[in-house]
Amino acid sequence: MAENFDAIIVGGGHNGLIAACYLAKAGKKVAVLEKNSEFGGATTSVNAFSGISAKLSRYSYLVALLPDQIIADLQINFKTLSRKVSSYTPVADTGILINRTFDDESRTSIDMFAGNTNEADGWQKFYRRMAIFAERVAPTMLKPLPTESEIRELVGDDLWDEFVVEPLSKTLDKYFANDVIKGIVLTDGLIGTFASATERAANICFLYHLIGNGIGEWKVPVGGMGSLVTELLSLARSLEVSLLAETYVSKIMDAGDCVIVESSSKSFKARVVIAGCSPHTLAKLTGDTPPKSLDGSQLKMNMVLTKLPRLKSGIDPRVAFSGTFHIDESYQQLEDAFIEAKAGEIPGVIPAEMYCHTLTDPSILSEDLQKAGAQTLTVFVLHTPAALFDDNHDARKSLVAKRVLAGLNRYLIDPIESCLALDAAGKPCIEIKTPQELEREIGLPRGNIFHGDLEFPWKTNDDPRKWGTETKSPRIFIGGAGAVRGGGVSGISGQNAAMAALERLSEIK
Ligand SMILES: Cc1cc2nc3c(=O)[nH]c(=O)nc-3n(C[C@H](O)[C@H](O)[C@H](O)COP(=O)(O)OP(=O)(O)OC[C@H]3O[C@@H](n4cnc5c(N)ncnc54)[C@H](O)[C@@H]3O)c2cc1C
Repeated sequence: MAENFDAIIVGGGHNGLIAACYLAKAGKKVAVLEKNSEFGGATTSVNAFSGISAKLSRYSYLVALLPDQIIADLQINFKTLSRKVSSYTPVADTGILINRTFDDESRTSIDMFAGNTNEADGWQKFYRRMAIFAERVAPTMLKPLPTESEIRELVGDDLWDEFVVEPLSKTLDKYFANDVIKGIVLTDGLIGTFASATERAANICFLYHLIGNGIGEWKVPVGGMGSLVTELLSLARSLEVSLLAETYVSKIMDAGDCVIVESSSKSFKARVVIAGCSPHTLAKLTGDTPPKSLDGSQLKMNMVLTKLPRLKSGIDPRVAFSGTFHIDESYQQLEDAFIEAKAGEIPGVIPAEMYCHTLTDPSILSEDLQKAGAQTLTVFVLHTPAALFDDNHDARKSLVAKRVLAGLNRYLIDPIESCLALDAAGKPCIEIKTPQELEREIGLPRGNIFHGDLEFPWKTNDDPRKWGTETKSPRIFIGGAGAVRGGGVSGISGQNAAMAALERLSEIK
């Protein structure tokens, strides 16, 4: 006999868990089926190295997109901390320091580097305009999907043209002349997206990086990203959600009056199903053709260090590494790397960025490690698409890692290798995840961290979808990052899918 539920969530990432909590709070009988032994998907924290008690945010690591409203609705105790430093960009033996609040120190740093005041002026103008766009669009994210005409009216024609119609490359040219400064701004258009600054995908990715809670501030999750999952699981348990780990879903079938979900252990029946997995996985489970999307294009590295390396520029490493540390991310370096990677070659100079979680939140380390001065480093490597690793995976992975570390070492007095802690077996504490490994471990299609191509958070004027989570089956919804307003650690698609499912549940048997 199949077990019956009002709603089954396939995939227990943070979005799936958020959808489950909203539905259970509304009194529905809910189950979450997760193929892995741990819930959380791309939002897990782990002790990645034997004998080293450091809870690393293994995949995602910073939070901006998660609306405060979701935290308030679910009353979970998930906290994030601001970083004083927004970014540090080493260039030769000097560097650019930009604080989160654009202050005199940031202005002086940019002026000194650029040799004029135009770049800092451009910075302030550009981000002021983007802030207006973000402030106006962010409040729409948990409501039914607006149309593009509605958003255009909300932001006005000028901002619409600047951030939606014009390629990001052109808008950046309007405000900045310096290649390095332009690159610092551009990175937000490329994180998780394999695109040139001239492509629409960069505009979309950029908007997502700046829109969170109307301010786009990237904060450090206290206790690591896994603490979000811990909170959601605890709420789900208290709401009597059935949480079934190690339950691989192999088939989803809309049977007309219910949905049948087959798993590795047994069959289930549900009035509605929310796919917390990717649209690609959902299509395979329903027997449809999977959508085509961009390759995931990043390598993720996690390290534990015995000490922070000193920098050639002389800046205090505790300042340089507490914000986002940009490595070889000038505009031209980003464009060159994209062109090389698109041609199937590992870029000669590989752009990357990183930050040190423990400078803001040491609680992810054991007391002993804290006392010993240990730190963590999280590196996000750009323009390394899955296609580069299809052949000779392991050799190419080593080559990319070597090149990235060499790139970083150019700016350091102490080579990063000399700072790595050793695990119980005496091996350096560094782990590297390619797009292929992300697909194997947590089901991201071709390692795409957003489950597919990001879309602008609105719909065309003739699109009949209400929430952007609908599929061709009236009983099946997309609730993971691949929904229209998914992507990133936001919970928005989970909430959107739960709202759509609740409406449907009120209409059907
Ligand atoms: C390396 C990396 C760094 C990132 N950094 C950031 C960041 O700093 N900030 C940010 O906002 N975003 C970041 N992201 C993106 C963000 O983590 C994801 O977009 C988001 O977490 C996706 O959440 P989700 O709940 O929709 O899906 P997922 O977290 O992908 O969860 C989907 C779940 O479905 C399960 N599943 C799949 N198939 C099946 C099946 N057949 N049966 C049962 N279960 C199944 C998977 O095991 C997984 O647990 C990063 C992602 C990666 C990979």
